[in-house]
Amino acid sequence: MADKRDYYEVLGVGKTAGDDEIKKAYRQLAKKYHPDMNPGDKAAEEKFKEVNEAYAVLSDSEKRSKYDQFGHAAFDQTAGGGAGGFGGFGGFGGFDFGDIFSDFFGGGASSAERRNSRMRGEDLEYNLSLTFEEAAFGCKKDISYARVEKCPSCSGTGSADGKTETCSACGGSGQVRKQVRTAFGIMSQTAACDACRGTGKIIRTPCRNCNGKAYVKVTKKITITVPAGIDTNEYLRVSGKGNDGRNGGAAGDLLVGITVRPHHIFERDGANIYCEIPITFAEAALGAEIDVPTLKDPIKYTIPEGTQTGTSFTVRGQGIVNTRTGRNGDLIFTTNIEVPKNLSDKQRELIRQFADESKQKNYTKRQSFFKKFKK
Ligand SMILES: [Zn+2]
Ligand SMILES: [Zn+2]
Repeated sequence: MADKRDYYEVLGVGKTAGDDEIKKAYRQLAKKYHPDMNPGDKAAEEKFKEVNEAYAVLSDSEKRSKYDQFGHAAFDQTAGGGAGGFGGFGGFGGFDFGDIFSDFFGGGASSAERRNSRMRGEDLEYNLSLTFEEAAFGCKKDISYARVEKCPSCSGTGSADGKTETCSACGGSGQVRKQVRTAFGIMSQTAACDACRGTGKIIRTPCRNCNGKAYVKVTKKITITVPAGIDTNEYLRVSGKGNDGRNGGAAGDLLVGITVRPHHIFERDGANIYCEIPITFAEAALGAEIDVPTLKDPIKYTIPEGTQTGTSFTVRGQGIVNTRTGRNGDLIFTTNIEVPKNLSDKQRELIRQFADESKQKNYTKRQSFFKKFKK
């Protein structure tokens, strides 16, 4: 199978096309390539499928935004999944072409094609919650999640003895013509064969492990290598760990969405980390060498005399590694002067003496504030 064409290209619309434009383009193309209009034309049939697939994604705002973000790999990925959970089990097939068609063609004509054609497995989502340090330094995490795999007992045939027979009801095509009552009277329509459920094949002795379904849902355990510097809302793509494909199609991917839990001291913005450090008013006034926490060991940092509350200091390279540049961000700390409480009599007396000694030039900010206030 050749590489999939871009969905926008398939419908002949721009990336910014509105819903109406997409619907219009789809209707025109779907009518043009519809199997009933092109009996026996394989090329038209392929086009028809392609158009439907593109429309199923682009007409759904959620799927469309995922497609814009992840391209074809986002195929049929469903949203949601709480912490530690997963989403994306839409079952096989993903798109219900019948649904789209019912509004103007009155039936899912291509369902048999769909069941028999090679199809990529769905992508799955897993939400992984990390501690601040795990995200900062990278880690390995064991996760388990549910995945649809080819049944190991029957190698994905659904048959206990490996044998399948051609369905006699539809001659193996998976499709039959049916008389259907519609608003316009009785009409003949192509529909999926009931006898073989559109597969064109009959299994006489179904595999017991999968009940003839050929696929089973299993709990899969894997180890995820989380690179240092990953952040909330970023994804890790684990290739081929989504659901198995159908009829020889490739497996989907597992998309591991990251949530980083808050730290008790640090906040993070990209590769930079921030914290607030309480200092005494003596340290603030006289300047001091203070202990500054980092993600590893604390470091010594000299703050100058006259340091105010809210002054920021940058410690280069003590942040988190930037996953794109490989360079470390910075640690930025802000001082917060703690006014002393629970004073002894002697301390009170010393502060009184200090206050008596204070001059206007000790408090320039206060002085200019009251000047403005008087005006
Ligand atoms: Zn089986
Ligand atoms: Zn059949």
